[in-house]
Amino acid sequence: MKYISTRGNPEEFTASQAIEKGICSDRGLFVPKEFPKVSLEEIEQMKKRDYKEIALSILKRYLMDYSEEELKECIGVYDETFSHPEKAPVVKLKDGVYVLELWHGPTLAFKDMALQIMPRLFTYARKKNNAEKDSLILVATSGDTGKAALEGFKDLKGVKVVVFYPADGVSDVQRLQMQTSAGKNVEVVGVNGNFDDCQTAVKNIFLDEELNRSLDKFKLSSANSINLGRLLPQIVYYFKAYLQLLRDDEITLGEVVDFSVPTGNFGDILAGYYAKQMGLPVGKLICASNKNNVLYDFLKTGVYNKQREFFKTMSPSMDILVSSNLERLLYHTLEDGKVLNEIYNKFEENGVLELDTVSLKKIQETIVPDYSSEEECLETIYNTFDKNNYMIDPHTSVAMNGALKNKSRKIVVLSTANIYKFSSSILKAFDLEKSNEFENIQALEKLSKEDIPLNIKKLKSLKILHTKVIDKDKLRYILKSL
Ligand SMILES: *Cc1c(COP(=O)(O)O)cnc(C)c1O
Repeated sequence: MKYISTRGNPEEFTASQAIEKGICSDRGLFVPKEFPKVSLEEIEQMKKRDYKEIALSILKRYLMDYSEEELKECIGVYDETFSHPEKAPVVKLKDGVYVLELWHGPTLAFKDMALQIMPRLFTYARKKNNAEKDSLILVATSGDTGKAALEGFKDLKGVKVVVFYPADGVSDVQRLQMQTSAGKNVEVVGVNGNFDDCQTAVKNIFLDEELNRSLDKFKLSSANSINLGRLLPQIVYYFKAYLQLLRDDEITLGEVVDFSVPTGNFGDILAGYYAKQMGLPVGKLICASNKNNVLYDFLKTGVYNKQREFFKTMSPSMDILVSSNLERLLYHTLEDGKVLNEIYNKFEENGVLELDTVSLKKIQETIVPDYSSEEECLETIYNTFDKNNYMIDPHTSVAMNGALKNKSRKIVVLSTANIYKFSSSILKAFDLEKSNEFENIQALEKLSKEDIPLNIKKLKSLKILHTKVIDKDKLRYILKSL
């Protein structure tokens, strides 16, 4: 399996090269040349396998220049750091709705599903490509990626990590998780701006030749969801969900299942699209956005316009106006890197992207756009608890609302965060919000009867190590001082 750029450059790369580089030098994203297929017979055979075995079976089809032994060592991380034996369990609610819980990793958000294994894949990639320089991994985060990357890469040899987060755009728990991160090789910096400002600033660093010269001792890379090492491990849990439904006799082999995905940068849902291309019986993928509904408008009209108001919402990890991974979906739909290159050149110039109607129709066959207002988000948290005695976080609520509105067959809602990362917003739905976050956490425990995870309890006593906050045009100065 070889990887190429979305932007029409014919040069081919191995999986490990793509993971080490993060992004192509022509600004494109790495995509597989074709999709490895999984037959229904193979799916049937996988039914009895556990998460790690499913992961091996999927990942070895993509990561061809990793040996089976290496992959097993990487995948072993799920046993070491995940608190649930199923890693990503499926919970059955009423009326044919299922929830896939993706937050049993150390930082309590779905980002751990990929960011726990990716540092190991990255370390092997460095070895395979005889990396001499240390890697400098720049991370722009809307809240959850930052902590997951800090946790995954901490104290790893040959790697330095710098995380940029919107200083005013994350939840209290998200901020505390990052600010208390230990590790000799990590830096955490707040930015006066939103996630898109952080993401754009990081992208510009990659293109800033003068800065790159002054950072000559490092090789720059990215741990954002544009990195293939993030995308591929996410395909696994779509298979896991389907296989668990099969194992539990909720569905029959070949039965089509829909998925509803709370979407920001389009990485999570894109993995579902990849699973479908591989042959998993996926019907529709609900692309559930919050009030920042730029993807909704695009998927309805074919016009993506990032020049619009940015809203801060209760689901901050989805407060994004430029969904990077959409580029990969467009590439697979157009199957023409030259055309895609033109489209993105224009987009980078004027912030507007237009897709022809034939391609748009093709996308709409699988991807169904939906979005939730803040009121709907609160209502859905309340109603889900009322009806099922099951508490969900605001991101999951957006996907739940999308699932209920668009339901035509059995549907799996991807649950992306543990409730205690967003206690105050959840309590708002019940009119029980308190004045400080630790009181909120106590109140949420009383209400939900869910145990508070140890990593949340510990937060209160950890030392705050990172307090830097800078203006959005000052990122380069931070890097120069490394
Ligand atoms: C990152 C994140 C999302 C959005 O996922 P994308 O891959 O960026 O679309 C949704 N919910 C939570 C809790 C997240 O951390």
